[in-house]
Amino acid sequence: AAKSSGRGCAQFYDSSMIEVARARRIVEIDLREALASDQFELFYQPIVAMQTGRITSCEALLRWRHPERGIVSPGEFIGIAEEVGLIAQIGRVVLDKACREATHWPDSVSVAVNISAIHFRGDAVVEDVAAALERTGLAPSRLVVELTESALMQDDALALSTLTRLRDLGVRIALDDFGTGYSSLSYLQSFPLHKIKIDRSFVSGGRETRKDQTLLVGIARLCKELGLTVVAEGVETVGQLDTLARMGAIDEVQGYLLARPQPTSQLRDLIAAFAQRSLTASVERLPVR
Ligand code: C2E
Ligand code: MG
Ligand code: MG
Ligand code: MG
Repeated sequence: AAKSSGRGCAQFYDSSMIEVARARRIVEIDLREALASDQFELFYQPIVAMQTGRITSCEALLRWRHPERGIVSPGEFIGIAEEVGLIAQIGRVVLDKACREATHWPDSVSVAVNISAIHFRGDAVVEDVAAALERTGLAPSRLVVELTESALMQDDALALSTLTRLRDLGVRIALDDFGTGYSSLSYLQSFPLHKIKIDRSFVSGGRETRKDQTLLVGIARLCKELGLTVVAEGVETVGQLDTLARMGAIDEVQGYLLARPQPTSQLRDLIAAFAQRSLTASVERLPVR
């Protein structure tokens, strides 16, 4: 039908689809330039032990310092990078920077790096992780690889073999955003995971109903039984922290209440400050926001 109108394929698309395609093409070109001229930076968000109030690790969160658009968040470009085949290249940059910057932190603090499902299912992810550790000299035990459920779906045998090879390198593996997507409790026992990060929709995302809380406690206890470290993401208020503390099964917390993502230059002071007082004291001393 499109052909017969004499306007090629354009009729299959409305103008907004053409706009979207054009915008993506621009982002793709910009992403290549960003890789070539080092426009990617990492911010780090602390993850804090519930018991001791200490920072145990910091999650690397990618920021793109775009020459015209300013700081661009990953939500705006990771999906496009995946589609245009640039995500593994970006992933290697992130691994390298994160491991390098973490060598300047105290040894007790690990670094967590998000790895895209596409990069994870490619053929070089284990080599990429090993190379970053090698180049930077970071102890493998100080690297946590964060994966989402989508990385583990589809091909169980491939996922298991990649996870096993990563574990054998000595890095730890966290399952991110747990409870969203097609969560399967069987992941928890069939894969060599170390940590579960319960998605913030259960913590501060408006799913704090009694049923969701029951589910959250149940999942957290099950994970603990299986020997996994349980992290709650997205803690924004003292009330939420309190609820999590009373559940008893949450090992670590992360969220704006504790600290926002920030440049590596801020971490030394922050790590020291959290080491000096209990979690409640840390939270009480935070400026009201
Ligand atoms: P994520 O891995 O689940 O990271 C947590 C996200 O929640 C971060 O957003 C963080 O800034 C935000 N967050 C932390 N605490 C709170 C809170 O208390 N409340 C709320 N509302 N949000 C909070 P960000 O930095 O925009 O990253 C979004 C997502 O982009 C990440 O979700 C991750 O999936 C992806 N991402 C970030 N960096 C990378 C990367 O280097 N590589 C890949 N492949 N993906 C990345
Ligand atoms: Mg993450
Ligand atoms: Mg997460
Ligand atoms: Mg999340």
